[in-house]
Amino acid sequence: MPQNNEIEVLLENNRRWVTEVTREDPDFFARTASQQAPKYLWIGCSDSRVIPNQITGLPPGQLLVHRNIANVVMETDPNCMSVIDFAVRILEVRHIIVCGHYGCAGVHTAMSGTTMDPLNEWLDGIRTLWGHHEEDLLEDGTQAAQDRMTELNVGKQMLSLCRTPSVEDAWLNRKSLRVHGWIYGLKDGVLQNLYPDIGSISERTRAESESPSF
Ligand SMILES: [Zn+2]
Repeated sequence: MPQNNEIEVLLENNRRWVTEVTREDPDFFARTASQQAPKYLWIGCSDSRVIPNQITGLPPGQLLVHRNIANVVMETDPNCMSVIDFAVRILEVRHIIVCGHYGCAGVHTAMSGTTMDPLNEWLDGIRTLWGHHEEDLLEDGTQAAQDRMTELNVGKQMLSLCRTPSVEDAWLNRKSLRVHGWIYGLKDGVLQNLYPDIGSISERTRAESESPSF
């Protein structure tokens, strides 16, 4: 397909989508444009196969989304920190979901050694986590180790999220806010809850004591 056609097809798809949505729900765009009031913030991987609204069945307006490679929550990343703060303080979301996925190339890259910057630096925290668990996890083979590391990464990022000032302030101000750690299966489309959710500083402390390597 010539390059221009490759991009034109997206605009054509868009026109078709607008027509279909308007036919089924004439007020859709007026309603959506007037406000957003999502109850949920999704922090997931950029992977093109993991589409948050599609896999949770949520229409536009109900899910605020932040995605990056390997669903990393890093306090030095102003992008992620801004999204979290906007979600918690302004939109007052009630749930934040950190969602990893099996077959995550970002996690696999961190496990296989170093790569080029900026990705190398981005994956540094996952590489450190791998260093803590490499010996144990490799006993069950590479595939099992990759899957388990992807799960552990969700736990690590969950706790990073729970340590951000935005989330701590919400809990200190007694706002209802719960942090969840999920994983998505590319092979079956199923979302699974990996860890007990965290909704207070004392619950975070308990989770930290149970997972010291995070
Ligand atoms: Zn990924």
